[in-house]
Amino acid sequence: MPELPEVETVRRQLQAALAGKKIKSAELWQRGREVPAGPKFVAHLLGKTIKAIDRRAKLLIWRFTDGSGFVGHLKMTGKFLLVPKNYQATKHDRLQIVVAGSVVVWQDIRKFGYVKAFKDDASLQSMIAHYGPEPLITAEADLAACLLTPKTRIIKAALLDQTTIAGIGNIYADEACHRAGIRPTRRLSTLTAADRLRLATEIKKVLNASLALGGTTANNYLDANGQRGGFLDLLQVYGRAGEPCRTCATPIKKITLAGRGTHYCPQCQK
Ligand SMILES: [Zn+2]
Repeated sequence: MPELPEVETVRRQLQAALAGKKIKSAELWQRGREVPAGPKFVAHLLGKTIKAIDRRAKLLIWRFTDGSGFVGHLKMTGKFLLVPKNYQATKHDRLQIVVAGSVVVWQDIRKFGYVKAFKDDASLQSMIAHYGPEPLITAEADLAACLLTPKTRIIKAALLDQTTIAGIGNIYADEACHRAGIRPTRRLSTLTAADRLRLATEIKKVLNASLALGGTTANNYLDANGQRGGFLDLLQVYGRAGEPCRTCATPIKKITLAGRGTHYCPQCQK
């Protein structure tokens, strides 16, 4: 699933191409993952001018100049693609938005993604109020404080929970734990203050490092220009089960934790 670095990469590309542009036309090719349903969603877009594309956690927030807008969650395989005018639609394309000079297609193979309209800032806030702090703009010490409770929580589960810290998913949870030398199987209660600060620091560092390379394409992810992210080769543990740890050569272990495949080095991570 696209996580913070991937969604932020898409956001920046959409922002550059779309901000200030008026929506000339919109077509919903496949129904079922938009709110409100069908023609009402299309009507919500038509004639609106895009003020900005923002992001909260893994959500893209399309803001219009009249205060309304919509949020888009990519989930497993969703993509917002900037496509040429003569683009030939695929069977996975759900929505097309046309502005002056640009065409955007929302494509989703697995169909877990969604788009949801909001009418004003209050209705937007009701969709995003539950998220924890944004790691890129939150100080290490404040992120570390998010890793205190609930004490019995498994670290991996806490990191995946968007109300703890926003935007981290399976890849960066595993990577941050490895870089901090901490086993994701431990409970929050076992972390010392120094552990929490180190983990918070590594969360910020790995997200920033990935963002600088346009994110990670481990499976299906492509940015808004249809390009792969460049961080895959820099992953230390995610997707490397059985391969030697880049630090100590011990084979990387993969287990299921919090319902997700979880990768760690049994030697480097305590
Ligand atoms: Zn190791």
